[in-house]
Parts: sequence; structure tokens; C-alpha cells
Amino acid sequence: MSQNRAKMESLIDDAKPAVFWSDRSDRPEPLPALSGPEDADLTIVGGGFSGLWAALLACTQDPGREVVVVEAQTCGFGASSRNGGFCDASLTHGFLNGLSHWPKEIGALERMGAENLDELIATCASHKIDAGIERTGSLSVATQEWQAEELLEYHELAAAHGIALDRLDTEEVRAQLNSGSFLSGLWDREGTAMVDPARLVWGLRRACLDLGARIFEHSPVRGTERQDREILVTTDAGVVSSPKVLVATNAWAEPVRAIRRYVVPIYDHVLMTEPLSSEQMALIGWGSRQGVSDSGNQFHYYRLTEDNRILWGGFDANYHRGNGMGPSYELRKESHTLVAGHFFDTFPQLEGLRFSHRWAGPIGTTSKFTAAFGTAHQGDLVWVAGYTGLGVGASRWGARTALDLLDNVVSERTELAMVRKKPMPFPPEPLRNPVIQFTRRQIAKADQNQGKQGAWLRLLGAFGVGFDS
Ligand SMILES: Cc1cc2nc3c(=O)[nH]c(=O)nc-3n(C[C@H](O)[C@H](O)[C@H](O)COP(=O)(O)OP(=O)(O)OC[C@H]3O[C@@H](n4cnc5c(N)ncnc54)[C@H](O)[C@@H]3O)c2cc1C
Repeated sequence: MSQNRAKMESLIDDAKPAVFWSDRSDRPEPLPALSGPEDADLTIVGGGFSGLWAALLACTQDPGREVVVVEAQTCGFGASSRNGGFCDASLTHGFLNGLSHWPKEIGALERMGAENLDELIATCASHKIDAGIERTGSLSVATQEWQAEELLEYHELAAAHGIALDRLDTEEVRAQLNSGSFLSGLWDREGTAMVDPARLVWGLRRACLDLGARIFEHSPVRGTERQDREILVTTDAGVVSSPKVLVATNAWAEPVRAIRRYVVPIYDHVLMTEPLSSEQMALIGWGSRQGVSDSGNQFHYYRLTEDNRILWGGFDANYHRGNGMGPSYELRKESHTLVAGHFFDTFPQLEGLRFSHRWAGPIGTTSKFTAAFGTAHQGDLVWVAGYTGLGVGASRWGARTALDLLDNVVSERTELAMVRKKPMPFPPEPLRNPVIQFTRRQIAKADQNQGKQGAWLRLLGAFGVGFDS
């Protein structure tokens, strides 16, 4: 970090420790907690995007179906209202990751992802969900020569698979967004929409209620148990009895211990600036308002909000021993200070701009960076978790696939290797922590060495596994 550390720390001290997206007066009132017994046809555990999309799709497909959602805090408490709001068509954490794991299925995966994004946007329109959607696409930028070479290779590979990306040279990329750090860029004009994640959560929640779903908040599920043909989902004050259960708790593995083998929580840190003045906007350009990410293995992602703030997230993704989760990991000053320095390294012309909010959230990641699906209670409970850092759009598809599995519907989705075969599990603790920390250090080292991977990362790659946010 070339910025003055004390200055960055003081900027971080001044930022409100809260999630910008949900720090608003129009935030809906919490719904009552579960108290007493309830019966349903389908119980959904977790009210993030996966749980809410599952509820909405289930109620839409079968309007008579009685659906209950049980959420530990309030809907969107997890990753779903803490994210960058890049709603991407990719179901595979990017085309390259999908191609490397499922070369035979990549065409179908890309097509389904594009359809999913179109349908997501259309569903928001039909349910009058105002999620601030801007289909501006996304811009990958190279800040090092080796990244520029990789973008070039990516461009050619994508073209060979019929994916059209606009290649931007130094002048062109800086004309899009003015940073002296940028050497080149690739603009995917169609594949990403920017959304306001909290408004999407709240809109989905309202649409589910309109369709008759019952949602209970502040109701952490403590366990599930089979009783004859029913599964009992138990909270401290109540129990829901239903023949089918869908668990959508992402990085939280308590309701189904098996999830812990495949999904680890990675805390990703985010800053939000104050709104930029028109003079400040003129200094950076960004007329096309794309979502942007740089191309290192440790990368930043950034975007504009409707009121022209800049959201700046990523780079320093942390794992805490024992799948550690909770508020104590959300305000890691060291991480926020580090990325604040990177912000002003990238946009020195914005000197004087302040950060209004800072927060972090748990990314549920798998060793293949894509969602894992699993079952319990003889297939009458299905879980889906682990979209890594690209679940805003993919969670709708994940929810749909989980419903297919639950209803024993054989579909194009359920036949995919990505769905049928689980990713390689992470080692259990006490090995998990040192292995992940070592891998993180190796990734940082590769970035400092023109992207060249050392023996450990190459070995992981040979087994088709990795670590990402
Ligand atoms: C900082 C950050 C930035 C990100 N940026 C992007 C991005 O720009 N684009 C993108 O595509 N993806 C991004 N992601 C990832 C994306 O947000 C997630 O993949 C997606 O929101 C996952 O949704 P979900 O519903 O599966 O999980 P979550 O939103 O995590 O929801 C899980 C829910 O389950 C609830 N829960 C947990 N335990 C229990 C229990 N015992 N009982 C009842 N309820 C329980 C939680 O309270 C939570 O509400 C980001 C994630 C983070 C953290």
C-alpha cells in the first residue's frame, strides 16, 4: 500500500460499521418469529436469495403448495444483502472455471446461466421488485502485464466458444474508467447486471408473502428430525412439520453438518464511499457504469450505486479457524485499511473522498467455487450451498435445481455433473486452517510473481481444486 497508513486508518475509523445496502429507513419491519407448531408442504431453512427464490418458484409452480421459510435473523442477513450486487449470468464462478471443470457441459451451463439472468430480471419486473437493476455488463481490467496477457488469452478462448467480449486497449479502458493503473480491459456487455442486493431481498420477500408463503424471522433452526413421513424442523420456540425440506443456509452449516465438509465461510470486506460530486465523477468518467474487477488472483471488485457512491470490495478474503463466523470477524480494521489504500492507489484523483460504510460478509466457498448440492432424510431434505463469490444470479438457478431434486424431477439441471457430483471436501480441522492459510499465502505470492503459480497451487490445480472468494 503506497497510501499513508495512519490516514487510511482514520478514514476507516470514520466509516459507519454497517452494511450500506440495508442501512436504510425503508428497511421492512421484521416478521414474527416461529412460535408453536406449523404444518407445511415445504419448509425452507434460510431466507437469503436461495431460500427466497426457492419459495417464490415453489409457490409459482404450484400455487396450492404451502411453503414456510424459517430465517435465523432477518431475510438477507447473510451474504445476500452484503454483497457487491454483481448479478452475473455465470453459474460456474466464471466461464474459465466452468470450462476447466466441466468442458463437456460448458455450453449448456452458459446457456442456462444466460436464461437464468434474463428470467431473474423478467421475474423482478413481473413482481414489481425494484432492485435498481442496471444491465451495464462487467469490465475485467488488467493492472499488470501478465494480467493483460491472460485477458488476451481469455478473449480468444471465449470467442472460440461463441462468447463475444469487447477488448479494450489502455486508452479505451481508461476512457471507460479513468485509472492510471489500468493497462487493458475486457467488457462483457450482456453477462452481468448491477443490482441493489437488499432491495432484491426485500422485494423477493414481499413477493413470497404475496404468493402466500409464511416467513418466520429471528427463528434459528436447531435441528431436523424425521417422524414417519414428515420432517420436523425445530427452533427454540416452535416446530414446522412438512414432508420436504430445503436447506439454504450457505456458509452456516449447523442445520446439516455435512455441509461443513464442502463449504467454508470466507469473510470478504467491503467499503462504500460517500456519493461522488459531479466534479469527482468527471475525474473518473465511468459513463457506462459497468461493474469492474481487476484480474489478479486476489482481486478487487467495484461499482457505482444509484447515487454515485463507489462500492469497493474484495482482495483480502479471510478464513477463521474452525469455520469461525460471527460479528467479531466483520469489522477487521486491518483488511478495511488495506483495501482503502488500494482504492486511492487506483483513483488518486479522488483524494479527499471519504468512506461512509464498511462491513464484511461470509462467502460460502467450495473447492470448485460452485454450489454443492446434497441430501439427507432419504432425499426428503435437499441442501444447496457454496456459490463462492458469484451467487447473486446463480442462487436463483441453485434454488430451482434444489427444488427439482426435492421433487424428484429429472431435468437438464439435475443431470449435470456439477449437480450430481460434489466438489472435493476440505480437510477437517485442525488441518483445514493451516492448509487454507498456506494456500492463501501461495496465491498472494503468485500475484507478486507475474501470476506464476508455485508447486502447491499447481498440485491443487492438478486435482481440480482451489481456494477463491
Ligand atoms: C461481501 C460479499 C460480496 C459478494 N459479492 C457478490 C457479488 O457481487 N456477486 C455475486 O454474484 N455474489 C456475491 N457474493 C456472494 C453472494 O452474496 C452469495 O453467493 C449469495 O448471496 C448466497 O445466497 P444464499 O441465500 O445461498 O446465502 P445467504 O445469503 O448467506 O443466506 C443464508 C441465510 O441462512 C440463514 N441461516 C443460517 N443459519 C440458519 C439457521 N440455523 N436457521 C435459519 N436460518 C439460518 C442466514 O441468516 C442467512 O440469511 C458476495 C458475498 C459476500 C459476503
